[in-house]
Amino acid sequence: MSRITDIIHSIPVDELTGAIAVPVYQTSTFVQQAPGVHKGYDYARTNNPTRTALENIVAQLENGHGAFAFATGLAAIDAVVKLLSTGDEIIAVDDIYGGAYRLFTHVYQKLGIKIHYVDTTDAENISDYLNDKTKLIWIESPTNPTLKVSDIQKIAAIAQPFGSLVVVDNTFASPIAQQPFTLGADIIIHSATKYIGGHSDLLAGLVVTKTKELSEKIKFIQNASGGILGPWDCFLTIRGIETIELRVKRQSESAWKIAQYLTAKSEIDKVYYPGLVGHKNHEVAKRQQNGIFGGMISFSLKEDTVDAASQFVTSTKYFKLAESLGGVKSLICHPAQMTHASIPREKRLSSGVQDSLIRLSVGIEDAEDLIHDLETALSKLKHP
Ligand SMILES: *Cc1c(COP(=O)(O)O)cnc(C)c1O
Repeated sequence: MSRITDIIHSIPVDELTGAIAVPVYQTSTFVQQAPGVHKGYDYARTNNPTRTALENIVAQLENGHGAFAFATGLAAIDAVVKLLSTGDEIIAVDDIYGGAYRLFTHVYQKLGIKIHYVDTTDAENISDYLNDKTKLIWIESPTNPTLKVSDIQKIAAIAQPFGSLVVVDNTFASPIAQQPFTLGADIIIHSATKYIGGHSDLLAGLVVTKTKELSEKIKFIQNASGGILGPWDCFLTIRGIETIELRVKRQSESAWKIAQYLTAKSEIDKVYYPGLVGHKNHEVAKRQQNGIFGGMISFSLKEDTVDAASQFVTSTKYFKLAESLGGVKSLICHPAQMTHASIPREKRLSSGVQDSLIRLSVGIEDAEDLIHDLETALSKLKHP
């Protein structure tokens, strides 16, 4: 059976009524026949049928044992860090999502968890920091915004003798391009706000677990801390999943064309896209992303200034200026003034986020229209 057929038919038909769409159970509690005697649902923080449906669909989508839906991507990340105790250590990709950096450094470090930020684009680099206190290896691949790629299989193999869990934030690749469990990961994180939701109309987070043991632990934390996804947003997330394969393939094909176009333009300095042969880990991306390089591209301008970038990002018509990514509408963002504005300039530059770096989230519009949009913005750069 093909992937798309699998995905569509993992979405259950309602047993009670035959409804083809998953019903929204907008309820806080469930009536019991006798104390403790019920139909598997007692209180909606613990279990809700709409959430159960979403969690089962996602577990299947990522080939995991279980999945757990949270109010945001960061709430999902938070639930995984709660597996740790004081004195434990995390090795995290140095180019980590800013919100995860803030959570690790400003919340968990002060509770006695030590974080090592490491350039994981060379897998061997983690060896210097691995020890018996290492509990999590935290990988994002590709990263934001410079699309760095790490070899998940190699990292998992190096971490294995130390018994550390390998966590992959699979938000940028999406389950269509990358299946971390087949590469040796133990836990997958998604900000479902992005490609899984896919329509820029909700916030949601997912934790997917490989084993029954991990499912039980995350389920406990989900119920104990309570940061669950509400039933309506569960419904919207399921609706997003129905079209994820179509969207991601289209976005990835268009992004590849746009990356080729940008590479050929004299006004553009560097183009960051895992699908380009010149990308540091292009071969790894090709292998571990099934040839689907994703819908995210970054590039810098020859005129490497904040002003030039500002001019560019306010000149596009279809690429809307906004943070976030993964929706059907294309977005453009200037990290130095937006997502990465809180990082001191020197630190930002050393991590490759130049003053003129511009990030694109390619939507499902026609690729030629998107290229024309960029062409117009480039011409305004020369003749403002
Ligand atoms: C957006 C994002 C998050 C956080 O998700 P929210 O839903 O915004 O809380 C985590 N990781 C990555 C890679 C992201 O892009």
